[in-house]
Amino acid sequence: MAEQKKITAYVCTGCDIGKSLDVEALKKVATDEYKLEICRDSKWLCGPDGVETIKKDIADGADAVVLAACSPRAMAETFSFNGTQVERINLREHVVWSHKPNDEDTQALAEDYLRMGIVRAQKAKLPTPPVEEVDKSLLVVGGGVTGMTAALDAAKAGYKVTLIEKEDHLGGWVAKSAKSFPRRPPYRELEDTGIEDLISQVEETTASRSSRAPRSRALPGSRGSSTARSAREARRSSSRQAR
Ligand code: SF4
Repeated sequence: MAEQKKITAYVCTGCDIGKSLDVEALKKVATDEYKLEICRDSKWLCGPDGVETIKKDIADGADAVVLAACSPRAMAETFSFNGTQVERINLREHVVWSHKPNDEDTQALAEDYLRMGIVRAQKAKLPTPPVEEVDKSLLVVGGGVTGMTAALDAAKAGYKVTLIEKEDHLGGWVAKSAKSFPRRPPYRELEDTGIEDLISQVEETTASRSSRAPRSRALPGSRGSSTARSAREARRSSSRQAR
């Protein structure tokens, strides 16, 4: 048998509710018809004392609270109790502000709304957010500036990154250039490409390299390996040619 929830109910008597309805009769719907142990009334349920009372009942074991007061659009933050089901019953806008006060039908409407709220509290379950295992491995294709930067940033963020480069050295087109266009004011002098530093960072972050795919390099790759050495030599020689 499903475990019975402990539900507590509250009727706010502020905002014309108390003077338009028979609050004691309303509370009896909760306690006599639905056998709730606790149904309290409050002159100002959204005030500090009202909220404290609800919090105390939750601390004492309430699984769900039924608040017969104003629209759920009002006081949403105030009546948000982390991990506890909250059922809001809109007596203010749906009943007393839109129907004749102290009238039999108005009272019946309020009681029906309370019944519906209590049944919702009994039957509804708080949704549990799905927690899915996320694979934290990434494949970056291309060992140029963009690929290496993406691979390094992803590795720093905790992803296991595999960087694939079709050539036998990293750096892409930028590695073939001796200098780069000016990127800082006054934009008159050519600048270093910074590619050596970037490649060094990739190589320092190296963990493994695939032996079955000689043209692929895992990030991190193998520092000081013959491939890395030949890559460096290739860069130096292309730099010399450019000069
Ligand atoms: S705003 Fe809502 S909770 Fe606050 S006194 Fe009015 S009906 Fe009650």
